[in-house]
Amino acid sequence: TSQFGIKEALAQLGVKDINEGTSTGLHHFANGEILESFSPVDGKLIGSVKMSTSQDYEKAILSATAAFKTFRLMPAPQRGEIVRQFGEKLRQNKEALGKLVSYEMGKSLQEGYGEVQEMIDICDFAVGLSRQLHGLTMHSERPGHRMYEQYHPMGVVGIISAFNFPVAVWAWNTALAWICGDVCIWKPSEKTPLCGIACQNIIAEVIKENNLPEGISCLINGDYKLGELMTSDTRIPLISATGSTRMGKIVAQAVAARLGKSLLELGGNNAIIVTPDADIKMTVIGAVFGAVGTAGQRCTSTRRLIIHESVFEKVKDAIVSAYKQLKIGNPLDENNHVGPLIDTDAVKMYSAALDKVVEEGGTILVEGGVLTGEGYESGCYVKPAIALAQNSFEIVQHETFAPVLYLIKYSGDVDNALEYQNGVGQGLSSAIMTNNLREAERFLSVVGSDCGIANVNIGTSGAEIGGAFGGEKDTGGGRESGSDAWKIYMRRQTNTINYTTSLPLAQGIKFDL
Ligand code: NAD
Repeated sequence: TSQFGIKEALAQLGVKDINEGTSTGLHHFANGEILESFSPVDGKLIGSVKMSTSQDYEKAILSATAAFKTFRLMPAPQRGEIVRQFGEKLRQNKEALGKLVSYEMGKSLQEGYGEVQEMIDICDFAVGLSRQLHGLTMHSERPGHRMYEQYHPMGVVGIISAFNFPVAVWAWNTALAWICGDVCIWKPSEKTPLCGIACQNIIAEVIKENNLPEGISCLINGDYKLGELMTSDTRIPLISATGSTRMGKIVAQAVAARLGKSLLELGGNNAIIVTPDADIKMTVIGAVFGAVGTAGQRCTSTRRLIIHESVFEKVKDAIVSAYKQLKIGNPLDENNHVGPLIDTDAVKMYSAALDKVVEEGGTILVEGGVLTGEGYESGCYVKPAIALAQNSFEIVQHETFAPVLYLIKYSGDVDNALEYQNGVGQGLSSAIMTNNLREAERFLSVVGSDCGIANVNIGTSGAEIGGAFGGEKDTGGGRESGSDAWKIYMRRQTNTINYTTSLPLAQGIKFDL
Protein backbone atom coordinates (compact mmCIF):
# COMPACT_ATOMS: atom_id res chain seq x y z
CA THR A 1 0.00 0.00 0.00
CA SER A 2 2.86 2.39 0.69
CA GLN A 3 3.76 2.08 -3.00
CA PHE A 4 0.79 4.28 -3.83
CA GLY A 5 1.07 6.47 -0.75
CA ILE A 6 -2.03 5.12 0.99
CA LYS A 7 -0.44 5.07 4.43
CA GLU A 8 0.63 8.68 4.03
CA ALA A 9 -2.86 9.60 2.80
CA LEU A 10 -4.52 7.95 5.83
CA ALA A 11 -2.09 9.74 8.15
CA GLN A 12 -2.75 13.11 6.51
CA LEU A 13 -6.50 12.58 6.81
CA GLY A 14 -6.20 11.51 10.46
CA VAL A 15 -7.85 8.14 9.78
CA LYS A 16 -6.58 5.67 12.36
CA ASP A 17 -7.15 1.99 12.88
CA ILE A 18 -8.67 1.17 16.29
CA ASN A 19 -5.42 -0.59 17.16
CA GLU A 20 -3.52 2.65 16.68
CA GLY A 21 -5.58 4.54 19.24
CA THR A 22 -8.73 6.47 18.59
CA SER A 23 -10.38 5.51 15.34
CA THR A 24 -12.75 8.38 15.45
CA GLY A 25 -12.88 11.60 13.63
CA LEU A 26 -14.11 14.50 15.71
CA HIS A 27 -17.77 14.08 16.46
CA HIS A 28 -17.88 10.56 15.17
CA PHE A 29 -20.14 8.56 17.43
CA ALA A 30 -18.83 5.00 17.53
CA ASN A 31 -18.77 2.57 20.43
CA GLY A 32 -20.18 -0.57 18.86
CA GLU A 33 -18.97 -3.64 17.04
CA ILE A 34 -15.93 -3.62 14.84
CA LEU A 35 -16.28 -2.94 11.13
CA GLU A 36 -13.34 -3.95 8.96
CA SER A 37 -12.70 -2.19 5.70
CA PHE A 38 -10.98 -4.30 3.05
CA SER A 39 -9.72 -2.82 -0.20
CA PRO A 40 -11.11 -4.32 -3.40
CA VAL A 41 -7.81 -3.26 -5.01
CA ASP A 42 -5.63 -5.86 -3.27
CA GLY A 43 -7.95 -7.53 -0.77
CA LYS A 44 -5.97 -6.16 2.16
CA LEU A 45 -7.43 -4.83 5.41
CA ILE A 46 -7.16 -1.04 5.30
CA GLY A 47 -8.36 -0.47 8.83
CA SER A 48 -10.90 -1.44 11.48
CA VAL A 49 -13.29 1.03 12.99
CA LYS A 50 -16.12 0.83 15.46
CA MET A 51 -19.72 1.02 14.35
CA SER A 52 -22.26 3.25 16.01
CA THR A 53 -24.75 1.80 18.47
CA SER A 54 -28.32 3.01 18.96
CA GLN A 55 -27.05 4.95 21.99
CA ASP A 56 -24.43 6.59 19.79
CA TYR A 57 -27.19 7.46 17.35
CA GLU A 58 -29.18 9.08 20.13
CA LYS A 59 -26.14 11.16 21.12
CA ALA A 60 -25.67 12.25 17.53
CA ILE A 61 -29.29 13.36 17.24
CA LEU A 62 -29.14 15.34 20.48
CA SER A 63 -25.90 16.98 19.42
CA ALA A 64 -27.26 17.84 15.97
CA THR A 65 -30.56 19.16 17.34
CA ALA A 66 -28.72 21.41 19.81
CA ALA A 67 -26.33 22.67 17.09
CA PHE A 68 -29.26 23.56 14.84
CA LYS A 69 -30.59 26.00 17.47
CA THR A 70 -27.53 28.21 17.04
CA PHE A 71 -26.53 27.46 13.45
CA ARG A 72 -29.91 28.56 12.08
CA LEU A 73 -29.31 32.02 13.55
CA MET A 74 -26.11 32.57 11.59
CA PRO A 75 -26.80 34.67 8.46
CA ALA A 76 -26.76 32.55 5.30
CA PRO A 77 -23.76 34.37 3.71
CA GLN A 78 -21.76 33.67 6.88
CA ARG A 79 -22.71 30.02 6.60
CA GLY A 80 -21.47 30.31 3.03
CA GLU A 81 -18.11 31.45 4.41
CA ILE A 82 -17.93 28.21 6.45
CA VAL A 83 -18.59 26.20 3.29
CA ARG A 84 -15.94 28.26 1.46
CA GLN A 85 -13.40 27.27 4.12
CA PHE A 86 -14.53 23.66 3.80
CA GLY A 87 -13.87 23.84 0.04
CA GLU A 88 -10.37 25.21 0.77
CA LYS A 89 -9.64 22.32 3.12
CA LEU A 90 -10.83 19.90 0.45
CA ARG A 91 -8.40 21.49 -2.02
CA GLN A 92 -5.57 20.95 0.46
CA ASN A 93 -6.59 17.32 0.95
CA LYS A 94 -7.61 16.51 -2.63
CA GLU A 95 -4.74 14.16 -3.32
CA ALA A 96 -4.97 12.25 -0.03
CA LEU A 97 -8.76 11.95 -0.07
CA GLY A 98 -8.81 11.02 -3.78
CA LYS A 99 -6.31 8.23 -3.09
CA LEU A 100 -8.34 6.91 -0.18
CA VAL A 101 -11.50 6.92 -2.34
CA SER A 102 -9.63 5.02 -5.03
CA TYR A 103 -8.20 2.48 -2.58
CA GLU A 104 -11.27 1.89 -0.43
CA MET A 105 -13.86 1.95 -3.24
CA GLY A 106 -11.74 0.76 -6.17
CA LYS A 107 -12.33 3.50 -8.76
CA SER A 108 -9.42 4.84 -10.78
CA LEU A 109 -7.17 7.43 -9.18
CA GLN A 110 -8.29 10.03 -11.72
CA GLU A 111 -11.90 9.34 -10.81
CA GLY A 112 -11.01 9.50 -7.11
CA TYR A 113 -9.53 12.97 -7.64
CA GLY A 114 -12.54 13.83 -9.84
CA GLU A 115 -14.88 12.90 -7.03
CA VAL A 116 -13.09 15.24 -4.63
CA GLN A 117 -13.19 17.93 -7.33
CA GLU A 118 -16.98 17.54 -7.40
CA MET A 119 -17.00 18.24 -3.67
CA ILE A 120 -14.96 21.38 -4.25
CA ASP A 121 -17.24 22.47 -7.08
CA ILE A 122 -20.41 22.07 -5.03
CA CYS A 123 -18.81 24.13 -2.24
CA ASP A 124 -18.13 26.96 -4.71
CA PHE A 125 -21.68 26.68 -6.00
CA ALA A 126 -23.10 26.72 -2.46
CA VAL A 127 -21.04 29.77 -1.44
CA GLY A 128 -22.63 31.80 -4.25
CA LEU A 129 -26.03 30.38 -3.45
CA SER A 130 -25.74 31.47 0.18
CA ARG A 131 -26.57 35.00 -1.03
CA GLN A 132 -29.34 33.84 -3.35
CA LEU A 133 -31.84 31.87 -1.26
CA HIS A 134 -34.56 33.88 -2.92
CA GLY A 135 -38.29 33.75 -2.37
CA LEU A 136 -40.91 35.55 -4.48
CA THR A 137 -43.06 38.56 -3.75
CA MET A 138 -46.69 38.57 -4.90
CA HIS A 139 -49.30 41.26 -5.37
CA SER A 140 -51.99 40.89 -2.73
CA GLU A 141 -55.65 41.13 -3.84
CA ARG A 142 -56.35 43.15 -0.67
CA PRO A 143 -55.50 46.88 -0.45
CA GLY A 144 -52.67 47.85 1.92
CA HIS A 145 -51.34 44.32 2.09
CA ARG A 146 -47.98 42.90 1.18
CA MET A 147 -47.40 39.26 0.40
CA TYR A 148 -44.15 37.37 -0.01
CA GLU A 149 -42.57 33.99 0.63
CA GLN A 150 -39.40 33.10 2.45
CA TYR A 151 -37.32 30.01 3.08
CA HIS A 152 -36.24 29.01 6.57
CA PRO A 153 -33.75 26.36 7.67
CA MET A 154 -35.47 23.06 8.27
CA GLY A 155 -33.47 21.18 10.91
CA VAL A 156 -31.52 17.94 10.91
CA VAL A 157 -30.86 16.40 7.49
CA GLY A 158 -30.16 12.66 7.53
CA ILE A 159 -27.84 11.51 4.74
CA ILE A 160 -27.64 7.83 3.78
CA SER A 161 -25.13 7.22 0.99
CA ALA A 162 -23.98 4.45 -1.35
CA PHE A 163 -20.50 2.94 -1.70
CA ASN A 164 -19.84 4.05 -5.27
CA PHE A 165 -19.56 7.79 -4.56
CA PRO A 166 -18.31 7.46 -1.00
CA VAL A 167 -17.54 11.17 -0.48
CA ALA A 168 -19.16 13.33 -3.19
CA VAL A 169 -22.78 12.45 -2.40
CA TRP A 170 -22.24 13.59 1.18
CA ALA A 171 -20.83 16.93 -0.03
CA TRP A 172 -23.63 17.47 -2.57
CA ASN A 173 -26.02 17.28 0.33
CA THR A 174 -24.06 18.95 3.10
CA ALA A 175 -22.77 21.95 1.16
CA LEU A 176 -26.35 22.92 0.30
CA ALA A 177 -27.84 21.89 3.66
CA TRP A 178 -25.30 23.97 5.56
CA ILE A 179 -25.80 27.17 3.61
CA CYS A 180 -29.53 26.61 4.11
CA GLY A 181 -28.91 26.58 7.88
CA ASP A 182 -29.47 22.86 8.43
CA VAL A 183 -27.23 20.46 10.29
CA CYS A 184 -26.39 16.95 9.04
CA ILE A 185 -26.09 13.41 10.30
CA TRP A 186 -24.34 11.15 7.81
CA LYS A 187 -24.39 7.38 7.57
CA PRO A 188 -21.96 6.43 4.82
CA SER A 189 -22.05 3.01 3.18
CA GLU A 190 -20.77 0.25 5.45
CA LYS A 191 -18.46 -0.64 2.54
CA THR A 192 -16.58 2.69 2.74
CA PRO A 193 -16.44 3.72 6.43
CA LEU A 194 -12.93 5.18 6.27
CA CYS A 195 -13.90 7.69 3.60
CA GLY A 196 -16.59 8.84 6.02
CA ILE A 197 -14.11 9.36 8.84
CA ALA A 198 -11.72 11.22 6.54
CA CYS A 199 -14.46 13.65 5.46
CA GLN A 200 -15.63 14.15 9.02
CA ASN A 201 -12.07 15.01 10.09
CA ILE A 202 -11.85 17.64 7.35
CA ILE A 203 -15.09 19.43 8.26
CA ALA A 204 -14.45 19.06 11.99
CA GLU A 205 -11.32 21.21 11.62
CA VAL A 206 -13.35 23.96 9.95
CA ILE A 207 -16.01 23.78 12.64
CA LYS A 208 -13.40 23.99 15.39
CA GLU A 209 -11.52 26.88 13.80
CA ASN A 210 -14.76 28.85 13.68
CA ASN A 211 -15.90 27.97 17.21
CA LEU A 212 -19.12 26.49 15.92
CA PRO A 213 -21.06 23.66 17.58
CA GLU A 214 -19.71 20.24 16.55
CA GLY A 215 -23.19 18.85 15.93
CA ILE A 216 -23.38 20.73 12.61
CA SER A 217 -21.79 17.63 11.10
CA CYS A 218 -22.27 14.22 12.74
CA LEU A 219 -20.97 10.91 11.48
CA ILE A 220 -22.37 7.51 12.35
CA ASN A 221 -20.88 4.37 10.81
CA GLY A 222 -22.86 1.18 10.37
CA ASP A 223 -25.26 -0.79 8.22
CA TYR A 224 -28.94 -0.57 7.28
CA LYS A 225 -30.05 -0.89 10.91
CA LEU A 226 -28.67 2.57 11.66
CA GLY A 227 -30.34 3.77 8.48
CA GLU A 228 -33.63 2.45 9.80
CA LEU A 229 -33.23 4.42 13.03
CA MET A 230 -32.87 7.55 10.91
CA THR A 231 -35.78 6.93 8.56
CA SER A 232 -38.29 6.37 11.38
CA ASP A 233 -37.10 9.33 13.49
CA THR A 234 -39.44 12.35 13.51
CA ARG A 235 -36.52 14.53 14.64
CA ILE A 236 -35.12 14.26 11.11
CA PRO A 237 -37.42 16.26 8.80
CA LEU A 238 -35.49 15.34 5.63
CA ILE A 239 -33.84 12.04 4.69
CA SER A 240 -31.61 12.13 1.63
CA ALA A 241 -30.94 8.54 0.56
CA THR A 242 -28.72 7.39 -2.29
CA GLY A 243 -28.53 3.72 -3.25
CA SER A 244 -30.49 0.89 -4.79
CA THR A 245 -34.16 1.05 -5.76
CA ARG A 246 -34.76 -1.79 -3.30
CA MET A 247 -33.43 0.37 -0.45
CA GLY A 248 -35.27 3.46 -1.72
CA LYS A 249 -38.65 1.75 -1.61
CA ILE A 250 -38.12 0.77 2.03
CA VAL A 251 -36.80 4.21 3.00
CA ALA A 252 -39.58 6.06 1.16
CA GLN A 253 -42.27 4.11 3.01
CA ALA A 254 -40.66 4.54 6.41
CA VAL A 255 -40.26 8.30 5.93
CA ALA A 256 -43.73 8.73 4.43
CA ALA A 257 -45.30 6.82 7.33
CA ARG A 258 -44.28 9.73 9.58
CA LEU A 259 -44.94 12.34 6.86
CA GLY A 260 -41.28 13.29 6.63
CA LYS A 261 -39.64 14.45 3.41
CA SER A 262 -37.33 12.22 1.42
CA LEU A 263 -34.90 12.95 -1.38
CA LEU A 264 -34.24 9.71 -3.23
CA GLU A 265 -31.35 9.08 -5.66
CA LEU A 266 -31.71 5.46 -6.74
CA GLY A 267 -30.68 3.07 -9.49
CA GLY A 268 -30.48 3.75 -13.21
CA ASN A 269 -30.67 1.69 -16.40
CA ASN A 270 -29.18 4.18 -18.77
CA ALA A 271 -29.19 3.92 -22.54
CA ILE A 272 -27.55 5.65 -25.47
CA ILE A 273 -29.57 5.75 -28.67
CA VAL A 274 -27.30 5.55 -31.71
CA THR A 275 -29.12 6.79 -34.81
CA PRO A 276 -28.06 6.47 -38.48
CA ASP A 277 -26.73 10.05 -38.23
CA ALA A 278 -24.49 9.41 -35.23
CA ASP A 279 -20.81 10.34 -35.21
CA ILE A 280 -19.42 6.84 -34.69
CA LYS A 281 -16.09 7.93 -33.20
CA MET A 282 -17.81 10.03 -30.52
CA THR A 283 -20.30 7.23 -29.92
CA VAL A 284 -17.55 4.72 -29.20
CA ILE A 285 -15.73 6.99 -26.74
CA GLY A 286 -18.97 7.90 -24.92
CA ALA A 287 -20.28 4.35 -24.82
CA VAL A 288 -17.07 2.65 -23.73
CA PHE A 289 -16.30 5.16 -20.98
CA GLY A 290 -19.94 5.05 -19.89
CA ALA A 291 -20.00 1.26 -19.70
CA VAL A 292 -16.60 0.45 -18.19
CA GLY A 293 -15.71 3.62 -16.22
CA THR A 294 -15.78 2.96 -12.46
CA ALA A 295 -16.12 -0.70 -13.58
CA GLY A 296 -19.76 -0.01 -14.45
CA GLN A 297 -20.53 1.04 -10.87
CA ARG A 298 -21.97 4.48 -11.51
CA CYS A 299 -25.65 5.18 -11.20
CA THR A 300 -25.25 6.84 -14.64
CA SER A 301 -23.19 3.99 -16.20
CA THR A 302 -24.24 3.08 -19.73
CA ARG A 303 -26.07 -0.25 -19.56
CA ARG A 304 -27.81 -0.33 -22.95
CA LEU A 305 -26.89 0.78 -26.47
CA ILE A 306 -29.94 1.08 -28.69
CA ILE A 307 -28.49 1.06 -32.19
CA HIS A 308 -30.21 1.57 -35.55
CA GLU A 309 -29.98 -1.52 -37.77
CA SER A 310 -28.33 0.46 -40.58
CA VAL A 311 -25.26 1.23 -38.44
CA PHE A 312 -25.48 -1.73 -36.09
CA GLU A 313 -22.59 -3.81 -37.48
CA LYS A 314 -20.29 -0.81 -37.77
CA VAL A 315 -20.95 0.38 -34.19
CA LYS A 316 -20.76 -3.13 -32.80
CA ASP A 317 -17.40 -3.81 -34.47
CA ALA A 318 -15.94 -0.49 -33.31
CA ILE A 319 -17.01 -1.07 -29.72
CA VAL A 320 -15.89 -4.68 -29.62
CA SER A 321 -12.48 -3.66 -30.92
CA ALA A 322 -12.26 -0.81 -28.36
CA TYR A 323 -12.94 -3.34 -25.58
CA LYS A 324 -9.89 -5.31 -26.74
CA GLN A 325 -7.69 -2.32 -25.79
CA LEU A 326 -8.95 -2.12 -22.21
CA LYS A 327 -6.42 -2.69 -19.45
CA ILE A 328 -7.83 -4.15 -16.26
CA GLY A 329 -5.93 -3.84 -13.00
CA ASN A 330 -4.96 -1.79 -9.97
CA PRO A 331 -6.92 1.48 -10.30
CA LEU A 332 -4.14 3.42 -8.54
CA ASP A 333 -1.96 2.63 -11.56
CA GLU A 334 -2.89 5.24 -14.14
CA ASN A 335 -2.17 2.88 -17.06
CA ASN A 336 -5.26 0.82 -16.22
CA HIS A 337 -8.73 1.66 -17.52
CA VAL A 338 -10.83 -0.69 -15.39
CA GLY A 339 -10.46 -1.39 -11.68
CA PRO A 340 -12.18 -3.93 -9.44
CA LEU A 341 -15.79 -4.33 -8.38
CA ILE A 342 -16.51 -3.36 -4.78
CA ASP A 343 -16.54 -6.93 -3.37
CA THR A 344 -16.96 -10.58 -4.27
CA ASP A 345 -20.76 -10.38 -3.84
CA ALA A 346 -20.77 -7.85 -6.69
CA VAL A 347 -18.66 -10.29 -8.73
CA LYS A 348 -21.29 -13.00 -8.16
CA MET A 349 -24.05 -10.67 -9.38
CA TYR A 350 -22.00 -9.84 -12.47
CA SER A 351 -21.45 -13.54 -13.28
CA ALA A 352 -25.12 -14.34 -12.66
CA ALA A 353 -26.17 -11.55 -15.06
CA LEU A 354 -24.02 -12.99 -17.85
CA ASP A 355 -25.49 -16.46 -17.29
CA LYS A 356 -28.98 -15.01 -17.26
CA VAL A 357 -28.64 -13.08 -20.52
CA VAL A 358 -27.58 -16.26 -22.31
CA GLU A 359 -30.39 -18.21 -20.67
CA GLU A 360 -32.87 -15.64 -21.98
CA GLY A 361 -31.58 -16.01 -25.53
CA GLY A 362 -28.90 -13.33 -25.71
CA THR A 363 -25.52 -13.73 -27.43
CA ILE A 364 -22.22 -12.86 -25.78
CA LEU A 365 -20.18 -10.58 -28.07
CA VAL A 366 -17.34 -9.85 -25.66
CA GLU A 367 -16.65 -12.65 -23.22
CA GLY A 368 -16.67 -11.77 -19.52
CA GLY A 369 -14.96 -13.59 -16.68
CA VAL A 370 -13.34 -13.18 -13.31
CA LEU A 371 -9.60 -12.52 -13.34
CA THR A 372 -7.22 -14.51 -11.18
CA GLY A 373 -3.48 -14.53 -10.56
CA GLU A 374 -0.98 -11.83 -9.79
CA GLY A 375 -2.50 -8.43 -9.20
CA TYR A 376 -6.01 -9.89 -9.00
CA GLU A 377 -5.75 -11.48 -5.53
CA SER A 378 -8.79 -9.63 -4.18
CA GLY A 379 -11.02 -11.67 -6.51
CA CYS A 380 -12.90 -8.49 -7.46
CA TYR A 381 -11.54 -7.90 -10.99
CA VAL A 382 -13.81 -8.82 -13.89
CA LYS A 383 -13.65 -8.42 -17.66
CA PRO A 384 -16.08 -5.89 -19.12
CA ALA A 385 -18.57 -7.87 -21.22
CA ILE A 386 -20.96 -7.12 -24.08
CA ALA A 387 -24.08 -9.08 -25.00
CA LEU A 388 -26.56 -8.83 -27.84
CA ALA A 389 -29.96 -8.74 -26.14
CA GLN A 390 -33.63 -7.81 -26.32
CA ASN A 391 -34.89 -4.88 -24.28
CA SER A 392 -37.65 -7.07 -22.87
CA PHE A 393 -35.25 -9.56 -21.22
CA GLU A 394 -35.68 -9.61 -17.47
CA ILE A 395 -31.95 -9.14 -16.95
CA VAL A 396 -31.88 -6.12 -19.26
CA GLN A 397 -34.70 -4.56 -17.27
CA HIS A 398 -32.60 -4.96 -14.13
CA GLU A 399 -29.65 -2.74 -13.04
CA THR A 400 -26.58 -4.98 -12.74
CA PHE A 401 -23.95 -2.86 -10.99
CA ALA A 402 -21.02 -4.09 -13.09
CA PRO A 403 -19.48 -3.61 -16.57
CA VAL A 404 -22.07 -5.48 -18.63
CA LEU A 405 -23.29 -3.69 -21.75
CA TYR A 406 -26.35 -4.80 -23.75
CA LEU A 407 -26.62 -4.03 -27.46
CA ILE A 408 -30.19 -3.70 -28.70
CA LYS A 409 -31.10 -3.25 -32.35
CA TYR A 410 -33.90 -0.97 -33.54
CA SER A 411 -35.37 -0.29 -36.94
CA GLY A 412 -37.55 2.50 -38.36
CA ASP A 413 -37.56 5.97 -36.83
CA VAL A 414 -36.30 7.33 -33.52
CA ASP A 415 -39.67 6.77 -31.84
CA ASN A 416 -38.99 3.03 -31.91
CA ALA A 417 -35.67 3.60 -30.15
CA LEU A 418 -37.42 5.83 -27.60
CA GLU A 419 -39.87 3.07 -26.83
CA TYR A 420 -36.94 0.87 -25.79
CA GLN A 421 -35.16 3.72 -24.04
CA ASN A 422 -38.21 4.48 -21.89
CA GLY A 423 -39.29 0.85 -21.62
CA VAL A 424 -37.51 0.11 -18.34
CA GLY A 425 -38.42 0.78 -14.71
CA GLN A 426 -35.64 3.28 -14.05
CA GLY A 427 -35.42 6.86 -15.34
CA LEU A 428 -32.05 8.38 -14.50
CA SER A 429 -29.78 9.18 -17.46
CA SER A 430 -30.20 8.93 -21.22
CA ALA A 431 -28.43 10.06 -24.37
CA ILE A 432 -28.79 10.24 -28.12
CA MET A 433 -25.93 10.31 -30.59
CA THR A 434 -27.13 12.07 -33.73
CA ASN A 435 -26.37 14.97 -36.05
CA ASN A 436 -30.00 15.11 -37.08
CA LEU A 437 -31.75 18.10 -35.50
CA ARG A 438 -35.21 16.54 -35.78
CA GLU A 439 -34.14 13.39 -33.98
CA ALA A 440 -32.33 15.32 -31.26
CA GLU A 441 -35.29 17.60 -30.60
CA ARG A 442 -37.74 14.68 -30.67
CA PHE A 443 -35.55 12.95 -28.05
CA LEU A 444 -35.72 16.05 -25.81
CA SER A 445 -39.42 16.73 -26.41
CA VAL A 446 -42.43 15.74 -24.31
CA VAL A 447 -42.64 12.44 -26.22
CA GLY A 448 -38.88 11.89 -25.87
CA SER A 449 -36.73 10.58 -23.04
CA ASP A 450 -38.53 10.14 -19.71
CA CYS A 451 -35.31 10.45 -17.70
CA GLY A 452 -34.11 13.14 -15.30
CA ILE A 453 -31.02 13.58 -17.48
CA ALA A 454 -31.20 13.64 -21.29
CA ASN A 455 -28.02 14.38 -23.28
CA VAL A 456 -27.31 14.98 -26.94
CA ASN A 457 -23.97 13.87 -28.34
CA ILE A 458 -22.45 13.04 -24.99
CA GLY A 459 -22.79 9.81 -23.02
CA THR A 460 -24.97 9.00 -20.03
CA SER A 461 -22.21 8.88 -17.47
CA GLY A 462 -21.42 11.67 -15.04
CA ALA A 463 -22.89 15.12 -14.66
CA GLU A 464 -21.87 18.65 -13.74
CA ILE A 465 -22.85 19.98 -10.35
CA GLY A 466 -24.56 23.08 -11.84
CA GLY A 467 -27.64 21.15 -13.01
CA ALA A 468 -30.20 19.42 -10.81
CA PHE A 469 -29.23 15.76 -10.58
CA GLY A 470 -31.64 12.83 -10.28
CA GLY A 471 -34.23 10.80 -12.12
CA GLU A 472 -37.80 9.61 -12.40
CA LYS A 473 -39.72 6.37 -11.82
CA ASP A 474 -37.64 3.74 -9.96
CA THR A 475 -34.82 6.27 -9.68
CA GLY A 476 -36.89 7.95 -6.97
CA GLY A 477 -37.73 11.43 -8.28
CA GLY A 478 -35.26 13.36 -6.09
CA ARG A 479 -33.04 16.19 -7.32
CA GLU A 480 -29.87 17.35 -5.67
CA SER A 481 -26.83 19.47 -6.45
CA GLY A 482 -27.40 22.46 -8.78
CA SER A 483 -30.29 24.56 -10.11
CA ASP A 484 -32.94 25.06 -7.40
CA ALA A 485 -32.30 21.72 -5.66
CA TRP A 486 -31.52 23.73 -2.48
CA LYS A 487 -35.25 24.28 -1.93
CA ILE A 488 -35.79 20.78 -0.57
CA TYR A 489 -33.42 21.57 2.31
CA MET A 490 -35.59 24.47 3.50
CA ARG A 491 -39.13 25.02 4.67
CA ARG A 492 -41.20 27.49 2.72
CA GLN A 493 -43.38 30.09 4.38
CA THR A 494 -45.92 32.47 2.81
CA ASN A 495 -46.30 35.76 4.67
CA THR A 496 -49.05 38.37 4.34
CA ILE A 497 -48.72 41.71 6.13
CA ASN A 498 -51.59 44.19 6.57
CA TYR A 499 -50.37 47.77 7.02
CA THR A 500 -53.85 49.40 7.14
CA THR A 501 -56.30 50.00 9.99
CA SER A 502 -59.00 47.70 8.61
CA LEU A 503 -59.17 43.94 8.14
CA PRO A 504 -60.47 43.09 4.64
CA LEU A 505 -60.85 39.36 4.05
CA ALA A 506 -59.68 37.49 0.99
CA GLN A 507 -62.14 36.53 -1.79
CA GLY A 508 -64.31 39.57 -0.81
CA ILE A 509 -65.86 37.73 2.15
CA LYS A 510 -67.74 40.02 4.54
CA PHE A 511 -67.71 39.32 8.27
CA ASP A 512 -69.14 42.38 10.06
CA LEU A 513 -69.27 42.50 13.84
P1 NAD B 1 -27.53 0.03 -1.22
O1 NAD B 1 -28.95 0.33 -1.49
O2 NAD B 1 -27.13 -1.36 -0.94
O3 NAD B 1 -27.02 0.90 0.05
C1 NAD B 1 -27.08 2.31 0.05
C2 NAD B 1 -27.16 2.82 1.48
O4 NAD B 1 -28.44 2.51 2.02
C3 NAD B 1 -26.14 2.21 2.44
O5 NAD B 1 -25.62 3.22 3.28
C4 NAD B 1 -26.98 1.21 3.22
O6 NAD B 1 -26.47 0.92 4.50
C5 NAD B 1 -28.31 1.92 3.29
N1 NAD B 1 -29.49 1.07 3.51
C6 NAD B 1 -29.74 -0.15 2.97
N2 NAD B 1 -30.95 -0.60 3.38
C7 NAD B 1 -31.48 0.36 4.16
C8 NAD B 1 -32.72 0.48 4.88
N3 NAD B 1 -33.63 -0.48 4.86
N4 NAD B 1 -32.96 1.61 5.58
C9 NAD B 1 -32.04 2.62 5.60
N5 NAD B 1 -30.85 2.54 4.97
C10 NAD B 1 -30.57 1.43 4.24
O7 NAD B 1 -26.70 0.62 -2.47
P2 NAD B 1 -25.15 0.44 -2.84
O8 NAD B 1 -24.88 -0.94 -3.28
O9 NAD B 1 -24.29 1.05 -1.77
O10 NAD B 1 -25.04 1.44 -4.09
C11 NAD B 1 -25.37 1.10 -5.40
C12 NAD B 1 -26.72 1.62 -5.82
O11 NAD B 1 -26.79 3.03 -5.58
C13 NAD B 1 -27.00 1.46 -7.30
O12 NAD B 1 -28.33 1.04 -7.46
C14 NAD B 1 -26.80 2.87 -7.86
O13 NAD B 1 -27.48 3.11 -9.06
C15 NAD B 1 -27.31 3.69 -6.74
N6 NAD B 1 -26.80 5.05 -6.79
C16 NAD B 1 -27.64 6.05 -7.22
C17 NAD B 1 -27.18 7.35 -7.32
C18 NAD B 1 -28.08 8.45 -7.79
O14 NAD B 1 -27.71 9.61 -7.58
N7 NAD B 1 -29.22 8.18 -8.40
C19 NAD B 1 -25.85 7.66 -6.98
C20 NAD B 1 -25.03 6.62 -6.55
C21 NAD B 1 -25.52 5.33 -6.45
